[in-house]
Amino acid sequence: WVLSPSKREHRVHDHYKLGQILGKGAFGIVYHATDLADNRQYACKSINKAKLVTEEDVRDVQREVEILNLVSDHPNVAELVNTFEDTHFVHLILELCHGGELFDRIVEQGTFTERAAADYFRTMVLVIDHMHQLGVMHRDIKPENFLLTDKSDRAKLKLCDFGLSSYWKPGDRLQSIVGSCYYVAPEVLRRDYGVEADMWSLGVMLYILLSGLPPFWGDKEEDIFRMVLKADIDFQTPPWPSISQAAKDCVRQLLNVAPDGRPIASKLLQHAWLKAQGASLDKPL
Ligand code: ADP
Ligand code: MG
Repeated sequence: WVLSPSKREHRVHDHYKLGQILGKGAFGIVYHATDLADNRQYACKSINKAKLVTEEDVRDVQREVEILNLVSDHPNVAELVNTFEDTHFVHLILELCHGGELFDRIVEQGTFTERAAADYFRTMVLVIDHMHQLGVMHRDIKPENFLLTDKSDRAKLKLCDFGLSSYWKPGDRLQSIVGSCYYVAPEVLRRDYGVEADMWSLGVMLYILLSGLPPFWGDKEEDIFRMVLKADIDFQTPPWPSISQAAKDCVRQLLNVAPDGRPIASKLLQHAWLKAQGASLDKPL
């Protein structure tokens, strides 16, 4: 068994009807789910136990569930509402995000206005700040892992996928290289990092939100990693010349190769660009 007895109700199908596939990941499939009692809609992440080969894999799933429980009360996290385990699967019943991945909205729209980018970005920093305050780092911040609650312009943003999240406290150094190549911090590639690595990934996110392009790219992973380690930021190519200095300063602070030179999440929320844009907002995302 992966889950503890109290978290391990057996028969998901007695409670939920699983429908269309919403997404696929490394260990499982995410389905649309309907609560049979009240017809409410959820997502069900079904993790295939056959793919959990090592004890480490099992512990990773246990940690994902634990961390989800820890951070679930935040309004910008796709809440874990129930867990099940049967012979073949661990099922996580999650708040449903109808609006798809932020990634797809970026592709659809090309770029966002600075105002829209700041709105999305402030929400991301708020939820990452919440995690860091609770002693966890996400380690896989990227637009695929931010989902939208619906298709409208006012959709709320929800962080999902805590599969690579890790406990972290000041002084801890992590070694394992995890994450996605466009978003990975240089010190992660050097296998000696802490919570600041999340802030780098947020910097990559912000660069993409503002320009539609990743700051570090290449045909092969090694090419991307070489660019990450150099950390040259292109602010010359359009649309950068028409983007505000304050926004660029925010990107520059986060994409600092020196981890301790980057602002922590709570400090970043005080950045002029995020505050200035926020002053005119009536509703947070
Ligand atoms: P993995 O850990 O395998 O990457 P994720 O948790 O990222 O799995 O889920 C894979 C995909 O399933 C996501 O990128 C998203 O498209 C979809 N998905 C995950 N959670 C939800 C949710 N709560 N609502 C809607 N779709 C979801
Ligand atoms: Mg994922």
